[in-house]
Amino acid sequence: MSKKIAAELLGLLDASPVNFLAAAYVEQRLRENGFQALDLSLPLPKLQAGQGYFACKNHTAVMAFRMGTKHPAEAGFKLICAHSDSPGFRIKPAAGIVSEGGVLKLNTEVYGGGILYTWFDRPLSLAGRVVLQGDDPLHPQTRRLHIRRPLLTIPHLAIHFNRQVNEGNPLSKQRDMLPVIGFVNDQLGKDQVLLRLIADELKVKQEDILDFDLSLYDTEKACLFGLNDEFISSGRLDDLAMVHAGLHALLASHPTAMTQVLAVFDNEETGSGTKQGAASPILRQLLERIVDNQGAVEGGLARAVERSFMISADMAHALHPNYPDKHDPTNHPVMGGGPVIKINANQKYVTDADSAAVFAEICRQAGVPCQYFVNHSDMAGGSTLGNILTSQLPMRGVDMGNPMWAMHSVRETAAVADQEYTCRAFETFYNLD
Ligand code: ZN
Repeated sequence: MSKKIAAELLGLLDASPVNFLAAAYVEQRLRENGFQALDLSLPLPKLQAGQGYFACKNHTAVMAFRMGTKHPAEAGFKLICAHSDSPGFRIKPAAGIVSEGGVLKLNTEVYGGGILYTWFDRPLSLAGRVVLQGDDPLHPQTRRLHIRRPLLTIPHLAIHFNRQVNEGNPLSKQRDMLPVIGFVNDQLGKDQVLLRLIADELKVKQEDILDFDLSLYDTEKACLFGLNDEFISSGRLDDLAMVHAGLHALLASHPTAMTQVLAVFDNEETGSGTKQGAASPILRQLLERIVDNQGAVEGGLARAVERSFMISADMAHALHPNYPDKHDPTNHPVMGGGPVIKINANQKYVTDADSAAVFAEICRQAGVPCQYFVNHSDMAGGSTLGNILTSQLPMRGVDMGNPMWAMHSVRETAAVADQEYTCRAFETFYNLD
């Protein structure tokens, strides 16, 4: 079982170097499993009990659901939420910079809060979206791009030029982090290189390329490691591991009275404040339309919200073997110890005793251990989706995630056992009635 789940996760990670490709992967798996695509600009078809549907926003967020057998106002929704984006480097416009010897660098901008020095000296490539000329100026064509061969690297300065490098090395995002893509002979051609590359990859005319959202990614594949292959090493485990667990559970579960929802948002790493992020009304609008579609009833969505439960699934910090002092003395989740319930007295997490008890009971029913995370009281800690979502949808919910090391490194570590546990817990949740 765990071999299959781990293989599934590795497949998703390798197919999803950036948010655009992660959303495409989720859409494809939904389609293969009989979920119908919805066009949000059209009236929804009559939604059928037990049938799966999905809708996308900006090619980076995916909202999927399986219609419940009861009206949502009477049964509510069971939601699992996660995010498609991860920290990295976005290519700036007019990115070409030629340095001596004809070495071509690309100008980049940092996205989110990554651990910058983990990106040095790796075989990197480009992925994202390219916008092409269409018939309608308001609606140009969009194509996803995933260049699979190694194309770039960010070369580190040799130790001989900075003997203190191992005693702490402050980095400039503008000077130190620019990737090299090859040689170019003329200054004029420096911005053509990228366009030519994109045109060749997508087999389109260079003059049809209007714009692009492209980011760097590490071409080294995700893998298992450890004495017994107990660990997973990959970029973007935060939060694609939770995207995987939510998708796995949705596809493996059966229809229930409650409508099951999987919401994969974008831009969590920059505060969720975009039209495809959790702070926007995308999910609320969709839930409202689902409720109305089943026949207008008094207080439709508000009643559904009162009956709903949300799992906000975003990765958590496992006790670091080299830094136990960074963690809370009594609540420090360990690798392989099961999904982690996140708690914060100042409500940075949506969890309270009520929702923590619900999730712990779901784990118990699934035969899965679970653990608790509270910040060391002198550490600030991060934020996530749950609280932001409750400003749109005031429902009961829990913030949780799987334990991991090196969050926001280009290469993060999680445990195979935890992935299996959370898949089981999520499946149990979706199957509750
Ligand atoms: Zn996250």
